[in-house]
Amino acid sequence: MAGMLYLVPTPIGNLGDISIRCRQTLEQADFIAAEDTRVTLKLLNHLGIKKSLVSYYEHNKDFKGNVILERILAGETCALVSDAGSPAISDPGEDLVKLCAEHDITVCAIPGPCAVITALSISGLATGRFCFEGFLSTAKKSRKEHLESLVGETRTMIFYEAPHKLVSTLEDLAEFFGADRRISLCRELTKLHEEVVRTTLGEAIERYNANSPKGEFVLVVEGALPKVKEAATADDAVAMVRNLMLEGMSRKDAVKHAAKTLNLPKNVVYDAALKLDE
Ligand code: SAM
Repeated sequence: MAGMLYLVPTPIGNLGDISIRCRQTLEQADFIAAEDTRVTLKLLNHLGIKKSLVSYYEHNKDFKGNVILERILAGETCALVSDAGSPAISDPGEDLVKLCAEHDITVCAIPGPCAVITALSISGLATGRFCFEGFLSTAKKSRKEHLESLVGETRTMIFYEAPHKLVSTLEDLAEFFGADRRISLCRELTKLHEEVVRTTLGEAIERYNANSPKGEFVLVVEGALPKVKEAATADDAVAMVRNLMLEGMSRKDAVKHAAKTLNLPKNVVYDAALKLDE
């Protein structure tokens, strides 16, 4: 019988955030696949766990993914960890999950630390609807296309970014969304110097040009204001009533329907529809 894959989230800064279930899963797995075995070894030493480690990262994921898959198909249980946070969110774990899903292997995700959700929840911006955009590409063309596709986005948008690229990313965000757009810069989450800067894109650029950014950042950007629908006019009502009557609806029903659809008073639509007789 095939084994299974566990996705084990690890702390994004505070070692106290490792859960009992994550610890047990790491202890009980046959082997652990890790993005950087040195980083994971430190965590395992802290937890007092000794376990065989396999490296699985961006540049060996195609080959190593198949090695891991074969071991799982042969009945072993693998615990996948990334350097920090939830595996498969902006890291190569995404491909291992796809591979396992293609081979009908059971994948179990243990909930736990994740930078995107931690940042969103303390951003102070709308959390009801959001989209996670990961890292912007460094290639000019796809970066521009990505940002263009977000110009009318009304949901809160979340980006990951490295500190040395922060200012140029803020400048690009300001170019596409406007300098007045609100942003919450969530830095060093769960760590000693955790900080949330709630400001605008324009002010953030000034701030980090004056003091170069340090540490890890999640950028939570306010969505665009929804476009206000223009109020319907009497001419719109006439056109709608005419079309409905051509489709066979009675004048009375067409007026009623148009008034409701266009959110206009019935008498206004009725008076406008009289033009049809002229
Ligand atoms: N899979 C991880 C997750 O979703 O939690 C994220 C992996 S991604 C390669 C690393 C990025 O996550 C960093 O560049 C940063 O944007 C964000 N990040 C991770 N830890 C963070 C922290 N403690 N504070 C702020 N951002 C963090």
